Amino acid sequence: MRVVGLTGGIGSGKSAVSALLAAHGAAVVDADEIAREVVAPGGPAYEPLVARFGPGILAEDGTIDRPALAAAAFGDPAAVADLNAITHPAIGLVMAERLVALAARGDVAVAVAVIPLLARRHVEGLGLAAVVVVDCPTEVAVERLVRLRGMPEADARARLAAQASRQERLALADYVVDNSGSPEELAARVDALWAWLRGLEGDG
Ligand code: ATP
Repeated sequence: MRVVGLTGGIGSGKSAVSALLAAHGAAVVDADEIAREVVAPGGPAYEPLVARFGPGILAEDGTIDRPALAAAAFGDPAAVADLNAITHPAIGLVMAERLVALAARGDVAVAVAVIPLLARRHVEGLGLAAVVVVDCPTEVAVERLVRLRGMPEADARARLAAQASRQERLALADYVVDNSGSPEELAARVDALWAWLRGLEGDG
């Protein structure tokens, strides 16, 4: 089984590309989904977060209120570092476990690890055979986030500005999927990506 990392800026089309890859037969493991699981009650990051940030981050039903948690950490570098130190290893561990389980099945040729904040350390840590970056111009991402997700434009721009730049992300890429066009164009580009990934798979 080959494991490839899939990344891209907010609204670039990571979910769209991973859904198209899944339709081709790839197994998809999504860091955002795992991030939600590890902070759920009973998850490995739940108790440490409540201990660090206090009961103010809890909703009435005892779940962690993610906006409250974000607000508690926002603007305080030490708090952000603690938040990351609690959640990132937990997410990484679950992701590695899922990938081991997929490999053990024996019938998965390509697994896609969707990691929004993919960094070079993930390449070695998860044994990634390649990094695929979904890319589109900032203005296209902003327009989609506003029109399709109902996000206020200022929020979309602030979130994009807080992330790694397009250039920083592209520097990690072994393969770039251009998602500046129509959904049909994206599907054709993912067909080509799939052929490339299958070729990787045959490398031994
Ligand atoms: P996030 O970082 O927020 O998880 P993402 O990178 O997963 O975002 P998507 O959710 O796949 O991005 O795409 C953002 C929005 O743009 C979605 O509403 C999606 O349906 C839409 N979209 C993706 N690609 C295209 C395209 N080629 N044409 C039109 N709309 C698109």
